[in-house]
Amino acid sequence: MTSDTSSASQVIYRKNEPSDLRTASDLIHYLESAGFEMSVPINVDEIAKALSINIVYDFNGIKDDFVGKIEFGVNNWPVVTLNPIENTYEPRRRFTIAHEIGHYCLHSNQHRRFIDTRKNMSRTGSYWDTYEYEANAFAAELLMPES
Ligand SMILES: [Zn+2]
Repeated sequence: MTSDTSSASQVIYRKNEPSDLRTASDLIHYLESAGFEMSVPINVDEIAKALSINIVYDFNGIKDDFVGKIEFGVNNWPVVTLNPIENTYEPRRRFTIAHEIGHYCLHSNQHRRFIDTRKNMSRTGSYWDTYEYEANAFAAELLMPES
């Protein structure tokens, strides 16, 4: 497991419970009001940093068959783990991170971890799973904001 130690941007948002961010546009407006420069293409890595989410890459994802996952560790600090093989295509990687940010904003007070596979990150595979459906919708809105 490797950790991105390239820079330590300032954390500008630390989630409190219960959640006060209900949608991706809530998050965008919040970050903009805190001085975060929001421009297209949306920089999901910088948003993750601003939310205190640590992103790591783990080749064990190959055998464990996940695309990405988010877990809430010591003191609730969120860690997103990406399977590098499943995220070589940059739009896929950005969508995976945006999906995990969705779990963080919407669901972190409901589950300790979410493990995402190709199936539950697809539109049809997520149809009956509210958490996955919401995280996918959040990701789509975050990556393609209206404004
Ligand atoms: Zn998910």
